[in-house]
Amino acid sequence: MPELLYNRKANATLANLAAGGRFPHTLLIEGPEGSGKKTAAWQAAKTLLCEGEPKPCGRCAHCVKADKRVHPDVRYYTVPEGKKEFPVETVREIRQDAYIAPNEGARKIYLIDRAHAMNAAAQNALLKIIEEPPDFVNFLLLCENRSRMLPTILSRAISVELEVPSVEECAAALEALAPGRSAQERQAAAAGAGGNIGRALGLLGSAKPSKSAADAKKLREELIYGERYACLRVLAGYDKDRDGLGQTLSLLREGFAQAAVGREADERLCNRVTVMQLVGAADAVERALLRAGRNVSIPLLSACMVEEVKAALAG
Ligand SMILES: [Zn+2]
Repeated sequence: MPELLYNRKANATLANLAAGGRFPHTLLIEGPEGSGKKTAAWQAAKTLLCEGEPKPCGRCAHCVKADKRVHPDVRYYTVPEGKKEFPVETVREIRQDAYIAPNEGARKIYLIDRAHAMNAAAQNALLKIIEEPPDFVNFLLLCENRSRMLPTILSRAISVELEVPSVEECAAALEALAPGRSAQERQAAAAGAGGNIGRALGLLGSAKPSKSAADAKKLREELIYGERYACLRVLAGYDKDRDGLGQTLSLLREGFAQAAVGREADERLCNRVTVMQLVGAADAVERALLRAGRNVSIPLLSACMVEEVKAALAG
């Protein structure tokens, strides 16, 4: 997961706060929609919970769970679907919950999205807890416009402002976030969104990288450079998901076809395989797709495909 690829300034501020042990109890992350507030907040949460070095290490159990957005000590709250305001009842819930000790980590982190949608009553309720929070608690308030926050809240928070990246930075970020899309599509989306990554992903029609796109990329990498078992491990995730497998294999076939066309630009690839080998690999994936459509058992067609692709790339 690329973390704040473009927001170097904000990233540096967060790293400094964490490194100096001066991380505030309340951090306000401000930026327009799609500027990466949630990504920044999760990065901050990960840094606060990490038990490795340097923080965030990306490998400890806390980092792994934070990366998957499933850490039990990171509580996410936002405006409920169909509502315009952040409910005061939710703020009261947060206040009560904040006194309960964390589950697995040393800290408990409240990620409060769309804080600017709190009315004065809700903000005053929030103020009561951020004035004197339990030691183990951090609040990360995400807001689009700090002028909507009460001065009493702002005076107790440290603010980090996110900037919208340039179109080029946005296109570069999309390479990792939307690997199933062509360079032209990513460039068009980045330009159409004026560099706003969240909006560009919306234009590409996927709020986050699909599992299929990520798996197809990993499979291609492992089929060319890696071991059979690594390929089979990825494919094992589709034992009960024939539709998902079809989607992943389509992207994999497309990936091999693109690699054949763009081989010249990739030195590592040139040293490893020829254009004809890549075309052979795409054909082998095509055969697997046909088998998938004919109800051949998934473990069997997966094993066959790995053998056939490996053979094509070696022959
Ligand atoms: Zn860690």
